[in-house]
Amino acid sequence: MRLFEAILDANHRAVAGDKNAGVRVADFADSLPVVALTCIDPRMNPLMPSVLGLREEDFIWLRNAGNIITHSMSSTMRSLALACVVKGGKEIAVIGHTDCRVGQTTVLQLTERFNALGVNRSHLPDNLVEFFGVFASESQNVMKAVDFVRHSPIIGPKVPVHGLLVNIQSGRLEWLVNGYQELDAAAARIAEAVNVENPTMQSAFASPEHDVGARKPFETKVGEQEPVPGWSVKDARIVEVPVPEEPPKIRLVEEQRAHAPASKRPPVISPSKNRSRRFPPPPPPA
Ligand SMILES: [Zn+2]
Repeated sequence: MRLFEAILDANHRAVAGDKNAGVRVADFADSLPVVALTCIDPRMNPLMPSVLGLREEDFIWLRNAGNIITHSMSSTMRSLALACVVKGGKEIAVIGHTDCRVGQTTVLQLTERFNALGVNRSHLPDNLVEFFGVFASESQNVMKAVDFVRHSPIIGPKVPVHGLLVNIQSGRLEWLVNGYQELDAAAARIAEAVNVENPTMQSAFASPEHDVGARKPFETKVGEQEPVPGWSVKDARIVEVPVPEEPPKIRLVEEQRAHAPASKRPPVISPSKNRSRRFPPPPPPA
């Protein structure tokens, strides 16, 4: 089982109520840290990275409104690339979420709200849909972003690029694009192309019981091949899942925090304490 397969497995078990669900991060040291692009929606704050069962140090978090990528060389893409190059990110996940307000806002609403903030329509680009990357479908938006990342010239071809959708209420993750399967399919296409291009290599690797001469392996030209059968982006479906009352708590994070040496434990700052530190307490009632 590979990292994100283990993450999805643990996530589904946690959402189903398995208190022991978790990811053994030590088994996936070669796949960590992961780089994730999510929406800016504040409801994502308590979900990440706990719904992945990852420690904070294993999680490089990029955010923009609607987890949108508009171009294979966009500024978000540059940050994804540098997250891999500078911070050692091994796998990339674009994680959309249900009930995304960016996807629900119409162009008319956008212009009205900009206008209410004092930004006149004449100061906005002509094509607001293209400029802001607004979308109608959360899942298609993720798949489009994954496609941009997968084909970006500045993203390493061996970096798995996944597409996921998280239920903002339950925390349940769904696959939209399994980056491992995409890499496997690409490798199979390359292997097939090598065989087609190089008959010597193909016959050298053919097993002796096969009559190589009787086959017609060279009729297909590179570029004319059928896509490798199996999973592809267009097959993706979102599964509606029941919403449990409590967001899942994946054991690993809390457990590791409890066992972490005191020096490595991050300070826990409760919002109420923080507030009382920054603001004087209210006067006692008269
Ligand atoms: Zn959103």
